[in-house]
Amino acid sequence: MSESMHIGMAGAGLSCAVIARELAERGHRITIHETRPHVAGNCHTERDAGSGVMVHVYGPHIFHTDDEEVWTLVNRYMDFKPYVNRVKATARGQVFSLPINLHTINQFFGKTFSPSEARAFIESQADTTITDPQSFEEQALRFIGRELYEAFFKGYTLKQWEVDPKRLPASILKRLPVRFNYNDNYFAHRFQGMPAEGYTVMVQRMLDHPNIIVHLGSALRPADVGQYDHVFWSGPLDAFYGHAEGRLPYRTLDFERFEGEGDVQGCAVMNYNDVEVPYTRITEHKHFAPWEEHARSVCYREFSRRCGENDIPYYPVHLTEGDQLLQAYQARAAREQGVTFVGRLGTYRYMDMDVTIRAALDAVRAFINARTA
Ligand SMILES: Cc1cc2nc3c(=O)[nH]c(=O)nc-3n(C[C@H](O)[C@H](O)[C@H](O)COP(=O)(O)OP(=O)(O)OC[C@H]3O[C@@H](n4cnc5c(N)ncnc54)[C@H](O)[C@@H]3O)c2cc1C
Repeated sequence: MSESMHIGMAGAGLSCAVIARELAERGHRITIHETRPHVAGNCHTERDAGSGVMVHVYGPHIFHTDDEEVWTLVNRYMDFKPYVNRVKATARGQVFSLPINLHTINQFFGKTFSPSEARAFIESQADTTITDPQSFEEQALRFIGRELYEAFFKGYTLKQWEVDPKRLPASILKRLPVRFNYNDNYFAHRFQGMPAEGYTVMVQRMLDHPNIIVHLGSALRPADVGQYDHVFWSGPLDAFYGHAEGRLPYRTLDFERFEGEGDVQGCAVMNYNDVEVPYTRITEHKHFAPWEEHARSVCYREFSRRCGENDIPYYPVHLTEGDQLLQAYQARAAREQGVTFVGRLGTYRYMDMDVTIRAALDAVRAFINARTA
């Protein structure tokens, strides 16, 4: 690329941290504005002063990927400890293993099925009258039948999204959400781990470059965009346009923090699938760092609700009836000169951390190639 540019960024989460580092190493000057008092966005981790436990402040984050370049990139900035996410679920007065596997099926139906017996049984439960599933509910009924759907998906989904599962798109359940063996590793990716010193230290190291300046507690306003040669915007897409078309719907989360002695629940994540229990899960943070020892424990009870104007937007809400509002914003964004919208808020999609990093690498490379051309 020709001469050095001055690039502005909204947000110091993973998206902009990756892009900033790539551009800084190519000689460009980067100024990042971050409204929060810390970097790392929603992956932010901090050590609890009282107990010493590393807390995932905006909810539990487990790193998992099949993307070797992404895995190499994160390991350049942080030592990743081996970690396997094993989630449990409390439903109908019992504790089950997730994702639904042979243990879950045998326990739930009071059977001792072999893998092939379980497969045949689940197929007999599936609603084969549904040939072209349109909604999340139809997809689940088609795959696993009513009993498992109601015990493990219906109540949890109602709490998480507060809409009838008939209005959620089938794409939420892409594959058969059941395993016919005893593998209870929540993720099926080749690489999985936890950053030894937390995500925030990892992101701080990405941003530790003489060409990068970070202003914490400082918002980048759309009106400031003209000060830079180019801007990468990882804030909400609708906020960039002053919500002119209306507000894109989000879910927000409330975390009710509590402490305990020793081991409170015996695992990192316990889901609560019954609709009568108002929270979706409890996270016990010390279990994300099994190589550490702490006498006390810090837990989060997690509640999901509609995101208000002053709440933190967590999950974009996509419904079966379509995304006209999103399309209106996307059309405006496509016409925008000098701004690239990135990340989970800038592109209004749920992305795991590895997908976020891959998208950031692709975006910065497309930008560099366009400039070079
Ligand atoms: C509850 C929850 C659990 C998750 N668990 C996992 C998991 O287990 N594994 C996994 O891989 N992924 C997980 N994720 C996804 C992960 O959080 C995202 O991939 C990642 O945070 C996306 O990074 P980002 O930089 O795009 O966005 P963010 O992390 O949201 O960063 C954007 C930043 O921009 C700032 N900002 C916004 N507007 C402005 C502005 N105008 N000026 C300045 N700053 C601004 C915000 O304050 C924020 O810090 C989870 C997400 C959630 C919500």
